[in-house]
Amino acid sequence: MSAHPASASALVIVGASYAGTQLAASLRDLGFDAPIVLLGEERHAPYQRPPLSKGVLTGKTSLDALPLRGADFFESQGIDLRLGRRAIALDPGAQTLALDDGSTLKYGSLALATGARCRSLPVPGSELGGVFNLRTLEDALRVSDALSSAKRACVIGGGFIGLEVASALAARGAAVTVVESQPRLLARSFPPLMSDYLAEAHRQRGVELLLGHGVRALAGSNGQITHVELDDGRRIDCDMAVLGIGVQPNVELAQQAGIACDNGILTDALGRTNAPNVLAIGDVANAELPAVPGGPGRMRLESIQAANDGARAAASALAGEPQPFEGVPWFWSDQHNLKLQMAGLPMPGDEVVMRGDRQTDRFSLFYLRDGTIAASHSVNRPAEHMLSRKLIAKRVRIDPRQLQDESVDLKTFQG
Ligand code: ADP
Repeated sequence: MSAHPASASALVIVGASYAGTQLAASLRDLGFDAPIVLLGEERHAPYQRPPLSKGVLTGKTSLDALPLRGADFFESQGIDLRLGRRAIALDPGAQTLALDDGSTLKYGSLALATGARCRSLPVPGSELGGVFNLRTLEDALRVSDALSSAKRACVIGGGFIGLEVASALAARGAAVTVVESQPRLLARSFPPLMSDYLAEAHRQRGVELLLGHGVRALAGSNGQITHVELDDGRRIDCDMAVLGIGVQPNVELAQQAGIACDNGILTDALGRTNAPNVLAIGDVANAELPAVPGGPGRMRLESIQAANDGARAAASALAGEPQPFEGVPWFWSDQHNLKLQMAGLPMPGDEVVMRGDRQTDRFSLFYLRDGTIAASHSVNRPAEHMLSRKLIAKRVRIDPRQLQDESVDLKTFQG
């Protein structure tokens, strides 16, 4: 079969969310003038995802506010955005990509920005009506629609998505129960102190939490969910259930092409895989991280910051002026009236210092490693979060007593 355009010099990007869009935009900023094809499997032009589990559910975010770029951005930048199109096979030797419409694209370089998908819950009844995932705009619209008539909702999974959804559903007036299989919330990202704080915060705001419980089945009648059955036989009555049990990276294209994968596609700090001219960026990439004492050498970060910064680093490599990302990873989550902001990657063994009082819902936890600030978690303290990113980047040494003392202005440590 002969290959269609793009062309032998084209960059083809598979995945049109944050990483894919940023890569295309950064390359045009850097003067890259070869053809760029941006393939998106969803029918929507690239859009913001954080509001999907928050404002889109509560109705506070209008759908008009979601697009990542203005309506004429792609055309004006000469980016050939193709929506509703899936790549189905990759041949790195021939430098071709097969699409689901039977066509084949020839590429000069290829970027896999295929993201991640929701893990499915392998129990009977997960296909019932009223059971939802939350990853895409279509998912959010379905959940929002179901909420108009639902009185009781069960959220399965007490991670970021599950807890954000629980907050939004509670704000819309539903009685919400969260079922989490671990003995504490957000065990993947938070130490017990933060998990316990959040559990109390959710309970105080009316969300029921069932921790350390597995789900045996989802049950219903007439094809519609009526209750969740836990491993101890307990029943949670509900009109709808949202699954928030984590995601898995979309590695299939890479794997079938023989590209090295291990919890994501393995890349260096510039997004380069072990296949010539094939990059991977965003949630699908398990990328090398800047060296930090005691930090992980590589990680698959699920964040907008990592997607954007990874895309910028990959763009610099493609444009011939490689600049690996060297900043501090950061994330955020909004739950009820709590703005949670995280910077750096805490590790077991870090010394934890609290600044502020958790009773007031305004405090920060700082994680000290070898006397320097390695990470921070802030609740409703955005200025402290911003400052901590600078302190972490500069590996500032701080005496824990000063850090704890609110009469000491942290800005004095900026240097
Ligand atoms: P996300 O960022 O997508 O919310 P996380 O990994 O942070 O993903 O959270 C997923 C949560 O779901 C974790 O706390 C995990 O323990 C929980 N979980 C996974 N499987 C189940 C399950 N079968 N029942 C209940 N909770 C689950």
